[in-house]
Amino acid sequence: APFPIPLSGAVQKGFGRGGKDLGCPTANLPDESLPAMSEVTRTGVYYGYARVFPDKDGQRALTEEESRVHPMVMSLGWNPFYKNEKLTAEIHIMYPFTRDFYGHEMRVIVLGYIRPELDYISKEALIEDIETDKRVALNCLARPAYERYRNDPLFEAAA
Ligand code: ADP
Ligand code: MG
Repeated sequence: APFPIPLSGAVQKGFGRGGKDLGCPTANLPDESLPAMSEVTRTGVYYGYARVFPDKDGQRALTEEESRVHPMVMSLGWNPFYKNEKLTAEIHIMYPFTRDFYGHEMRVIVLGYIRPELDYISKEALIEDIETDKRVALNCLARPAYERYRNDPLFEAAA
């Protein structure tokens, strides 16, 4: 297996699709940070850990709790905006942030695959599946073997 897969970059504006109105904001990484994912080729939902660094423009914008390592679920897909030639990764961090963190350095360790992309007949069905993904991710990450990734050097001090 290719895991763990490290990804990092500054959080970018997405297309504003769904996200917050589904109760599930997803932070986007820049295209250049995704080549590591292309060897995986499987689109769908993944789980792992993520950390957002607290400082931006020399100012501390996030709390100590917010800027810890948290569990995440990531949706990987082909971007229709680029004729499906580029991947997009949308990362939902399982922590109740009190503010946006656009422009902040985010680092991610992808640890496993949950499921392929699916089509939904309704918004409710999609929301229900996202909730299932979060539970699956937390169950997977509960394995003792994953604990050490919380303390991975990737999550230490910013570059
Ligand atoms: P966009 O289309 O710009 O990605 P979203 O509705 O998906 O808009 O919201 C994503 C933004 O919300 C992130 O870039 C981040 O700044 C913020 N955010 C707040 N809480 C979270 C969270 N728990 N996980 C991911 N992003 C979050
Ligand atoms: Mg988003």
